[in-house]
Order: sequence, then structure tokens, then C-alpha cells
Amino acid sequence: MSAGARAASPVYLAFDIGGTKVASGFVTLPADGGPEVTARCEIPTEAARGGEDLKNRIVALAVRQLERAKAEGVEIAGVGIAAAGVPDSETGEIVSATDILPGWRGQRIYDAFAAVTDLPVYMIGDVGAHGMGEATYGAGRGAGVVLSIGVGTGIGGAIVVGGRLFTGAHGVAGHAGHVPSALGRGFLCSCGTREGHIEPVASGTGLKDLYNRRCAEAGGENLPAADGAEVAARAAAGEELARRTLADSARALGECVGGMGNLIDPDVIVVSGSVVKAGPIWWDALRAGFADSALALVRPTPLVEGELGGAAPLIGAAAAIHGRLGAQ
Ligand SMILES: [Zn+2]
Repeated sequence: MSAGARAASPVYLAFDIGGTKVASGFVTLPADGGPEVTARCEIPTEAARGGEDLKNRIVALAVRQLERAKAEGVEIAGVGIAAAGVPDSETGEIVSATDILPGWRGQRIYDAFAAVTDLPVYMIGDVGAHGMGEATYGAGRGAGVVLSIGVGTGIGGAIVVGGRLFTGAHGVAGHAGHVPSALGRGFLCSCGTREGHIEPVASGTGLKDLYNRRCAEAGGENLPAADGAEVAARAAAGEELARRTLADSARALGECVGGMGNLIDPDVIVVSGSVVKAGPIWWDALRAGFADSALALVRPTPLVEGELGGAAPLIGAAAAIHGRLGAQ
């Protein structure tokens, strides 16, 4: 391979640090065509061992991956990291993390990598990385302004403008789950409020909680559901309470997304995560809620399903370091 060909398709070492596993791979970003993820591997997060231990195991994984790249003759151009919590992309410090990752807050990731490699390292949040992946190489590719919404265990989001992640003044921009919704009133949100955020009634967990509360209120005729997927399955099978709950949950989320659309005016809205597999009842209600809430000029904005699946954060982390190096 010539030096010119390498420059046209740079390869980045990427990490996706989540609450249950840390994934890594080599991400090739061709000038045209789709990205490729190779040398994929993962380790369990084992969050209970603490943030320091986690950081050390990630760096050890990086050393193994860089040795592998050397052995295979792969030239790595930089390291891209998608991290759980709120990372500071400039300093490389984790400035906020939930109890899911005890001791993760305060870890200095760039310093740890600098001890083992001279390669440039760039870190963004995992939800932002997911959005970056979809915006640059997935369902939002080619669009100028992309709003990405992830609806899974929780609800997250990302705003990508001209291929760059918009992070806001405190790195908080894109927290799509923590916007007001009357449906969420009384349900405890992961941020601590019960005043009515959308996440505790529209995430996968929230869908289950909303359904189970309604089951209890209805007198316990229906057995509680174990998760959001079970509510979706019962709805698809025609169970009335599940159908109504799934539709109400998606409609409320759609109204919130309409409000976000009015604020941001994106070219496209990409919706990803486990809950988007809930079927047409969910999608129809999401689109109906969006149409009710969106301004006339925003209403035609396409709401599309993400294309990259679980690889999105790795690809987005690679796209972020690629953009960072290109901008320097
Ligand atoms: Zn909240």
C-alpha cells in the first residue's frame, strides 16, 4: 500500500467505554464508501472494581491493540474514545459519571494514554460518539445538521453540525432524555427529578415502568412486564393496555423530539437504540407526536432509523479524532 493510499483511508484505534463492556477496534475511514471496523475485541467493564482499575485495563487493552496493529502492518493515525459519563474533550478528564461507574469521575484519560503512546488521543461522550457515527457515516451522512436520539435503557442525544459534535458550554448538550413531558410527572428520572422528564416513561426501562404502573392501577389483571421489549411484544400481540401504553410513550417522546426540532431545525433526525425495534405502533405514534409539536417548516424533517447499530460509537469516535486532526 502506498503512502498516498494510506492517507486516503486512515485507520484509527477506537474505544467504546460503556457500563457493561469496553469495545475496541481498528476503524478505517475511506474518503468515499463506508467505514470498516476490524480487530474488534471487548473486555467486561467490571465497574465495581472502580474507575482507576477500569482506566488501567483500558490502557492495557490499548497496548495490546497497538502491538497487534504493528504485527499486522496497520498504521494507526490516532486514538478515538467514546466514553460513558461526561468527558472534557480538551483536558481528557471525566468530569461527571453516574453511580453505574463508581470512581470513573475524575479519571484523567489522556495522561494515562500519554504514558504508553505518542499518538494523538481524542475523547468524546459515548452518546455523542453514537451521533457522530450516524451523522458522518450512517443514516445522517451528507446532512449538514443532524439530531441523533438514542432510545435504549436510557434516552440520550447528540447534535452534529457540519460533521462536528456540538457539546455546549458544559459538555451537556444533547441530553434528550431530560426535557419536560407531562407523561413523566411522578416518575423518578435518572437525573433525580420527579417533576416530569421524558426518559423515565419513554426509554426501554421507562416503557416497562409506565406499563407496570398502569397494570397495578388497573387492578393487576395483566402480569407485570420484565422490560420494554416485553411491552412491545404484548402490544404486537394485541393486548390493549400494552398497545395504549406503547403508543402514549412514543407519542410523548415524539412531542419532545418535535420541540427539539423546532429549536435546532435539523436536516434529519436519526433515532436509534433498542426501543426503535418496538414496531409500527411505536413509530406511528412517535411520528404523530412529532407532527403535532413541530412547526410547519420543521414537520417534513425526516425521522429515520439509525444504520450503524452497535458499531456507531466506535465509528463516531474515529470520526471525531479524524475531524480533530484535520482541523489542526
Ligand atoms: Zn431527567
